[in-house]
Amino acid sequence: MPQALKNTDSGNTLSGSGAAVVSSTTPAAPKDVLTRLYVETYGCQMNEYDSGLVRSILGEAGYSRAEKVDDAGVILLNTCAIREKAHEKVYNRLHALGHLKRKDPRTVIGILGCMAQNLGDDLFAQGLPVDFVMGPDNYRELPEIVSRIRSGQESNLNITQLSRTETYEEIDPKVVSGKLAFVTIMRGCDNFCSFCVVPYTRGRERSRSPESIVNEIQQLIANDGVREVTLLGQNVNSYRHAGDAESGGEEFRFRHLIEKILAETDIARIRFTSPHPHDFPEDLLDLMASEPRFCSQIHLPVQSGSTATLARMKRDYSREEFLRLVDQIRARMPGVGLTTDVIVGFSGETDAEFEETLSIMEQVRFDMAFMFHYSERSQTYAHKRMPDDIPQKVKLDRLRRLIELQTEIAREKNAALIGETFEVLVEGRSKRSAVELMGRSATGKTIIFPAPNANSAADAVDGHDAPGDSAPAGDAGLDLDRYLGQLINVRITESTPATLRGVVA
Ligand code: SF4
Repeated sequence: MPQALKNTDSGNTLSGSGAAVVSSTTPAAPKDVLTRLYVETYGCQMNEYDSGLVRSILGEAGYSRAEKVDDAGVILLNTCAIREKAHEKVYNRLHALGHLKRKDPRTVIGILGCMAQNLGDDLFAQGLPVDFVMGPDNYRELPEIVSRIRSGQESNLNITQLSRTETYEEIDPKVVSGKLAFVTIMRGCDNFCSFCVVPYTRGRERSRSPESIVNEIQQLIANDGVREVTLLGQNVNSYRHAGDAESGGEEFRFRHLIEKILAETDIARIRFTSPHPHDFPEDLLDLMASEPRFCSQIHLPVQSGSTATLARMKRDYSREEFLRLVDQIRARMPGVGLTTDVIVGFSGETDAEFEETLSIMEQVRFDMAFMFHYSERSQTYAHKRMPDDIPQKVKLDRLRRLIELQTEIAREKNAALIGETFEVLVEGRSKRSAVELMGRSATGKTIIFPAPNANSAADAVDGHDAPGDSAPAGDAGLDLDRYLGQLINVRITESTPATLRGVVA
């Protein structure tokens, strides 16, 4: 699961390369503290999107945003269950929040998301300051649950009923990051990989209608000047929606959805995450290769390079099939950005199987990888049926070797890009310099470069400002926000394993 992050209503702390800083556009309003809402988000982009849904649902019910957790009457932690560390962070945070409840017992604290769905009532048995737990399919009930708890009628509520139909289709989450936005196109997963808790915490696959997705993107463009969307789903290749008169009754699949977004919106760039390697459609690759607005970047989780380990993981592809898919992708898009997820130390992983993981990393040469050692998740098939039998020391040693290898590969790959020119969509300022911009290439490379000056900007930018932007060029040191969402050609001059630096071409 790419990108670990903790975002709050007042700010964002991030870990993981390429993590997006996302903030709610819900305006803060001075209101009674009891109706002030503070949401803290842990985990992946889908959780970030869900936090937007939560703000929207409670916003409709009269709750406004609190800038600080101390100013909130309702505190919600939207949690992740994918790794053990994510659980620990939430426990620590809850202990730290206890004083707020002691100060004012009317403060309502809820745990949302995958950890709530995964642990349910167990969370009440640990002396934590928690009023309710709620799973990802139950957020429409939030206003009622908060008022029931506040009225003193009930406490320790567990609302974790999974749904086969809930997609929050018509709710606008209002979550943007500069000129970028995430849009969830489907929820849940039917794959049941043996190590993964997602099918148990997010339920079975269901897709939003193409119309609601296109409408959301059109609104993001019109209201927030969004230029790039990342379409989210646990397995976007499985996107499917019943056909209608427009499609001639033909079922809508992921490729059709992309075509519809391209045809019916002015979005400058579309990305997506994540596909499953076992059902990657060739026609999707053809579309990606032929349509410049459909970014040539694929996050393709390999998880292991050993066919035997992959079988125990229930991944439904072999090492050879994965490599064939990579060949197919690169044959159509030679410069495609490829990233991945890897788990080491899974149940029964032998030294030889781990060596196969190292060798597939050397063979594929991913641009970037999210690498983890295995930790058991309750409810999963592996937890119930397979021993967690690799010693922690061995797991950590394997992870160290894997990270060293991938860092070297990324260093070499990025160094080879020096001298090349990329079209960069500006996402914000560089964290380290007041006069530098940061953006990404279509292939997903993070690129930092000095802002164009007044004289060169007119030539450098793509000729049309992002909606809502002011004049194009000016004093780069004073107003870099004017470049947000613009496409600028940048020639690469320096590299590290994680970042490229360049100058306006
Ligand atoms: S495809 Fe596998 S790893 Fe990904 S969310 Fe579904 S079960 Fe989990």
